[in-house]
Amino acid sequence: MNSATRVLVTGGAGFIGSHYVRTLLGPSGPGGTAVTVLDKLTYAGNPANLDPVRDHPGFASVRGDVCDPVLVDKLVSEHDQIVHFAAESHVDRSILDADAFVRTNVAGTRTLLDAALRHRVSPFVHISTDEVYGSVETGASTEDDPLRPSSPYAASKASADLIALSYHRTHGLDVRVTRCSNNYGHHHFPEKVVPLFITRLLDGGRVPLYGDGSHVRDWLHIDDHVRAVELVRTRGRAGEVYNVGGGTELSNRELTDLLLRACGADWSRVDHVEDRKGHDRRYAVDWTKIREELGYRPGKDFAAGLAETVAWYRHNRSWWEPLLDRAAL
Ligand code: NAD
Repeated sequence: MNSATRVLVTGGAGFIGSHYVRTLLGPSGPGGTAVTVLDKLTYAGNPANLDPVRDHPGFASVRGDVCDPVLVDKLVSEHDQIVHFAAESHVDRSILDADAFVRTNVAGTRTLLDAALRHRVSPFVHISTDEVYGSVETGASTEDDPLRPSSPYAASKASADLIALSYHRTHGLDVRVTRCSNNYGHHHFPEKVVPLFITRLLDGGRVPLYGDGSHVRDWLHIDDHVRAVELVRTRGRAGEVYNVGGGTELSNRELTDLLLRACGADWSRVDHVEDRKGHDRRYAVDWTKIREELGYRPGKDFAAGLAETVAWYRHNRSWWEPLLDRAAL
């Protein structure tokens, strides 16, 4: 694969990163692309997520830390582009201890940016989140809205966004930022609400609903998100931020109801628990820009996507059962 575009994908053993790598190297991928995954394999990283592409001639993986400047420098020098998913990603963990969040999400991003700058590797696609905008009561956040993150997780991501964009404004590095809403789909580590609820319900257990359950999130199927990232990598503009929405807004109560039904359970299995500290009431992103500039539209119907996700967890217990201990807080 001598003339292939060499893409360094950080966090490629996690939920979204692995889906991206499987897609890039799969039958619907662009072809002519070689991928190296750089992943620390924290509790959330799972090498098994990459088994479907392990024998692909363009695939390589390195276990390592995005905060390691020597390793990062070497790897970046050997690649043409970077797609940066690696992060500590669970809000609840950031409330218990923010240390790893600041280290990986902020310092790790800066380490990668410095190496990209030294070797002029671009585009540098930085994967961020709608949480950087903070809670919006009505309407939807546009890319130009101020950042008002609430949790330590969201603040670390907002910090990383600003540093990434500063490398564009200061040094002219081709940095592109995506801010997506809540992802769902298969291979999702069973600590986040959708896979947590599904795995507990399939096991006959109980599920915790925060506060009054009125918090609202927009849901984005992993296939749609991966397509959006690919559009930004291949056709996005330097220095731009692109919001990525899924088009299905649900309160946590509504989501819980759908998950209960999909798993054949009822409300007697729900524990109403104290609300998460600093819990943002509602996130919503305006994704007009990526639609008009790059032709993005979410294609997955939520009911179908959720049914497929539940079916996947039903049929892939061997993937998630060994992870349950690691998922516990
Ligand atoms: P994940 O927790 O499933 O995966 C993160 C991956 O990063 C893991 O494989 C982990 O081992 C790796 N990692 C962590 N620290 C590292 C380090 N120091 N060096 C190298 N690798 C490291 O997360 P995800 O849900 O796949 O999220 C991917 C990206 O998307 C993150 O940047 C996250 O902030 C963002 N995001 C996720 C969602 C969502 O709904 N899941 C929504 C918005 C944004």
